[in-house]
Amino acid sequence: MNAAEPSRFTFHVSRPYRGRLAPSPTGLLHLGHARTFWTAQQRALSCGGTLILRNEDLDQARCKTQFVSAMFEDLRWFGFQWKEGPDCGGPFGPYCQSKRGEFYIAAFEKLRASGAVYPCTCSRLDVLRALQAPHVGEDEPIYPGTCRPAVSSDFNVQSSKLEPAQDGRRDRNKLSPRINWRFRVPDGEPISFGDGSYGPQEFIAGRGFGDFIVWRHDGLPSYQLAVVVDDAAMQITEVVRGQDLLKSTARQILVYRALGLTRPNFYHCPLVTDESGQRLAKRSDSLSLRALRAKGIEPEILRKSWNVVDSGSALQ
Ligand SMILES: [Zn+2]
Repeated sequence: MNAAEPSRFTFHVSRPYRGRLAPSPTGLLHLGHARTFWTAQQRALSCGGTLILRNEDLDQARCKTQFVSAMFEDLRWFGFQWKEGPDCGGPFGPYCQSKRGEFYIAAFEKLRASGAVYPCTCSRLDVLRALQAPHVGEDEPIYPGTCRPAVSSDFNVQSSKLEPAQDGRRDRNKLSPRINWRFRVPDGEPISFGDGSYGPQEFIAGRGFGDFIVWRHDGLPSYQLAVVVDDAAMQITEVVRGQDLLKSTARQILVYRALGLTRPNFYHCPLVTDESGQRLAKRSDSLSLRALRAKGIEPEILRKSWNVVDSGSALQ
């Protein structure tokens, strides 16, 4: 690509470039994470931007201390450098999701006040049972609308106001258990965006994805809410992440809109697969950065073919 001639997927952002690495310490980082993060770092560098590290440790039951320390060590070993993060601070902290409960609660209250969300008492099994034929391979089944009120203003509970708790969870004693809060999607509306890597994307609300959870029955915001709140608060201008989150981007665009927040640009990366074509999971221990390092493999060898050549595309 000619650098003087912007591709149709080049975005003109007036804000200075800010990108992020957002690992979740629920296991060891593997080659797939490194590949995506490397793209994020290359893109931030090529724009003279700032790269931040955000520890996505929201689910304290699944995030382990040993994985947090391993995460820092493995990222540094691989050659990642961030300017803001849990270890070095910065103007938009805290950089650990477990310490950002107040931000999530404030956003949730705003969504609730506007009628954008409603309470749902269905279990996961209820949702699956209500569906005639759940599509295999969907990231989550399309919610059949069992608890959805007819009009958004039909529902208004003030009795269950969320209170910030120290660990970011709401006070469970003040709310009935087993209530998920779902975002009401505008049925039939095409949600489109230009992906920096995959080009134009479009998902139809209510068909490609359904009413999704923004606040979980266990007292935590969902990924969809937390990531929007954090990316906006940390003034991220481009989100670089795995291709498996393309559809989630459509959901998040709706959350940005409902909260009146400016959305970033998006750049999704192909997922790294193993020899059998399966995407790497956290259980792919043999391809964890830790295991590769123990085998004496140098990071330079691993990332040899990963260099992003310009702001619009990546070459193999
Ligand atoms: Zn329900």
